[in-house]
Amino acid sequence: MTITIHNLGYPRIGAKRELKFAQEAYWRGESSEQSLQETAKRLRSIHWQDQKVLDFVPVGDFSLYDQVLDMSVTLGNLPSRVTELPGSELDAFFRTARGRSPADQSAGGVAAGEMTKWFNSNYHYIVPEFSAETTFTLNAERLLEQLAEAQALGVNAKPVIIGPVSYLWLGKEKDGSNKLDLLEQLLPVYDDLLNQLADAGAQWVQIDEPCLVTTLDADFRHAFDIAYHQLHRSKPKLLLASYFSDLGANLDILRELPVDGFHLDLVHAEHEVFRLIDWCDTKVLSLGVIDGRNIWKTDLNATLDKLEPIADRLGDRLWLAPSSSLLHVPVDLSQEDTLDTEIKSWLAFAKQKLSELHVLKVALEEGREAVRDELDANTAALASRRASTRVHNSAVAQRCAAVNADMGTRKLPYAERAPLQHAHLRLPLLPTTTIGSFPQTAEIRKYRSDYRAGRISEAEYIAAMHADIDQCVAIQEELGLDVLVHGEAERNDMVEYFGEQLDGYVFTRFAWVQSYGSRCVKPPIIYGDVSRPKAMTVPWSAYAQAQTKHHMKAMLTGPVTILNWSFVRDDQPRADTCRQIALAIRDEVLDLEAAGLNVIQIDEPALREGLPLKREHWQPYLDWAVEAFRLSANGVRNETQIHTHMCYSEFNDIIAAITEMDADVITIETSRSDMELLEVFENFHYPNEIGPGVYDIHSPNVPTVDSMVALINKAAEKIPVERLWVNPDCGLKTRAWPETKAALEHMVSAAHQLRKKHRAAA
Ligand code: GLN
Ligand code: ZN
Repeated sequence: MTITIHNLGYPRIGAKRELKFAQEAYWRGESSEQSLQETAKRLRSIHWQDQKVLDFVPVGDFSLYDQVLDMSVTLGNLPSRVTELPGSELDAFFRTARGRSPADQSAGGVAAGEMTKWFNSNYHYIVPEFSAETTFTLNAERLLEQLAEAQALGVNAKPVIIGPVSYLWLGKEKDGSNKLDLLEQLLPVYDDLLNQLADAGAQWVQIDEPCLVTTLDADFRHAFDIAYHQLHRSKPKLLLASYFSDLGANLDILRELPVDGFHLDLVHAEHEVFRLIDWCDTKVLSLGVIDGRNIWKTDLNATLDKLEPIADRLGDRLWLAPSSSLLHVPVDLSQEDTLDTEIKSWLAFAKQKLSELHVLKVALEEGREAVRDELDANTAALASRRASTRVHNSAVAQRCAAVNADMGTRKLPYAERAPLQHAHLRLPLLPTTTIGSFPQTAEIRKYRSDYRAGRISEAEYIAAMHADIDQCVAIQEELGLDVLVHGEAERNDMVEYFGEQLDGYVFTRFAWVQSYGSRCVKPPIIYGDVSRPKAMTVPWSAYAQAQTKHHMKAMLTGPVTILNWSFVRDDQPRADTCRQIALAIRDEVLDLEAAGLNVIQIDEPALREGLPLKREHWQPYLDWAVEAFRLSANGVRNETQIHTHMCYSEFNDIIAAITEMDADVITIETSRSDMELLEVFENFHYPNEIGPGVYDIHSPNVPTVDSMVALINKAAEKIPVERLWVNPDCGLKTRAWPETKAALEHMVSAAHQLRKKHRAAA
C-alpha cells in the first residue's frame, strides 16, 4: 500500500517574516520590484524544500498579498478603477490590495478592495468585485511560472486554486446583479486554466471550495453541479477541497460530483468520513488529519487507530494532509529557543506538522514498528501534557464549578440602576469619551522595549508611563472630555498585555501568523488553566484616577476577545477556557471598583468573529460567550458603570446576545455606515446606553464639527438622546497626536452644541 501525503498550503511570510519586510520596503519605494520578486522566489524555494517529505507539494499558495486577490488576477477580474490607471501588473495588484502602489507615492491613491475575514480565521482576503458587466479573461502566467519554478527544483507540484463556486461566493456584486449569473462565463476560463496546468505537467490540481462548509442556498448548491459537470472534462485530475468545518447539509452535494478526489477536514468533520468513503468507489479521499489551525502535537497513535481501518478500505486511494492550509499556523517551532522546554515538547508548527504526516504515512505503509521511536516520543509528549501539574490547577477548577447565574447578573436591572449611576456620576447629556488608547508614539514604544530589554529600571519605566498618563489627562481635561482614559501606553497589544500577566499562557518569539498583507499577529498560547496571580491594570488606572477630578474609565479586554485572539488549548471545550479567563477578568473588575474606578470598559471586538461557520451553531457559541462576558462584568455595584466596545458594524444577527450582555454602555463603529447600523438597535428596542462612533479613526482625516453634529442628530432620531454617548469609532493608538487633538476638539464642540440645543428645547 502506498499512502500519498500532501499539503493544502504553506505559510508564505517566511520563518523570520522575510516577506513582510520585503513587501514594506517595496511599498516605501526603498527596493525594486525585482528585489521583491527575488525574495518571493527564494521564499517559495525554501518552502518547497521544507515540504520535501511530501508526495505532492502545493504551488500557487504563495502570494505577494492574498491568494484570493491572486485568483482575481488569474481570472482577469480586477476593479476597473484600478486597471484604468497606468502602470505595471504589480501596480494594479497592490492598488487593489491597499489603495496604492509605490508608483502613486505622491499622487493620491484609489479605493482599495474591501477586505474581510477568511471564514472563521483571523486571515483577511480581498473581496472580488462583480457587476453585471464583469467579464473574465485568463491570465495563467503566475501559476505557470511558479509551476515551472517548482518543477525545476525537482518538486512534485500540485497547483492550488480557488474553485469557481467559492470564488463567486467570496465576492460581492457592486450593482445589485446576481453574481451566480457569472458562473456560465467563468467556467470556460477555469477550463482553460486547468488544461494549461495539465499541459505544463500538473497531474493533479487542488481546487478549493471552502464555501462548502457554510450554509448554502439552493442556487449555490446547484452551482456545484453545473460547475463540476463542466470542469471534469478538463485534463488534470481534480481534488476538491473543503476545510475548517464539516459539510453538514452540503455533504450530499458531493455524492454525484464528478471529480477525482475529495479532501475532508477530519479534525472538524470526522463524523462524515464514512459516508464519503461509501461514495468514493474509485475516487481519492484526502483526509485532513493534522490540525491546520492550531499548534498542538497530533496524537499519532489515536490518529492511526482511526486511519488503519480506513486505509484497509481505501488502499492507495487514501491521501493524508493537514486539515487546512498551514497558512494559519507559525512556520517553525525549532526557532523558539527561549520557550519553556516542557511546553515546547507539546507543540508542532507548520514544519513539525509535516513531519507528523510523514510518520503517519510510514506507519500505515510499513506498520507502527517502523516508526516506533517517533510514536513513542509522541506518546511521551502527550502524556506529559496530560499529566502536567502546570496544565491543571485545582483552585481554578473549583472556582469554575462554583460559577452560578447570579454571579453574572447585575443587582438591579438597567432601568433601576441607571438613575443610581446618573446620580453618582453626574454626567451631562451626550457625555463624551474615547475608546481607550491614545497615540502610541515612538517614544512610548522605546520605553517599553527598553524596559523589556533591561535597559531601563522598573522605576524609570513607571515614571515614564506616569508622565504619559499625566499628559493624556491634561490633554483630555483641556479638550473638555467628560469621561477620561489613561491612554494604554503600557500595552503592546490588547490581548498579549493580559496574557503576559495571566497564568496558563506562554509566549513565543517568532510564531507569527499572517493576518493580512504584510500584517502578522503573534497569538499567545493558552496551555493550561488560566488564573490571575495579581492585579494587572489597577495600579495604572488608580494612578490615572488620582490625577483628575473627572471620572477615569478603566480599560480591560474581555474574555471572549482574549480567547479568540489566542491559540487555545484543545484538551477542553473553548467555553471552559473562556470561563476561566472570565473569572480572572472579574477579579480585575472588582479590584478596579474597589480602587475607586466608577466606570470600567471591557472590550469585546472579537466577539462576533468567533461565530461558527454554520448558523445552526451560533446560539450555543453566543450562549457561552455572553455568559463569560456577564461573569466578568456583572459582579459590580449598581453605581458602577460598565462599558463595552465592539468595533464592527454588523449587529443584525447578534443583537439579542449583545442586549443579554447588559453592559450599561456599548460603543460601536458607525461613522462609515452613516448611523445605518443603529437601526438594528432601534428596531430591537435596545434598552441601555449607546455610543455610536462619530469619528472614523481608521483615517487620518479630521472630521468637521458639522459632520459630527449631523451624525449625532441622525443617531438621536433612532435612539433617545438621554441614552446616547459621543465618542470615536475605536482606540486612537494608530493615530498621531495632531490629528487626534483636532478631531477630539471638534467632537467635543459637536457634543456641546447639541447639549445646548436639547437643553433649550427641554
Ligand atoms: N481599548 C482598545 C483601544 O482603545 C480597544 C481596541 C479595539 O477595539 N480593537 O485601543
Ligand atoms: Zn475598536
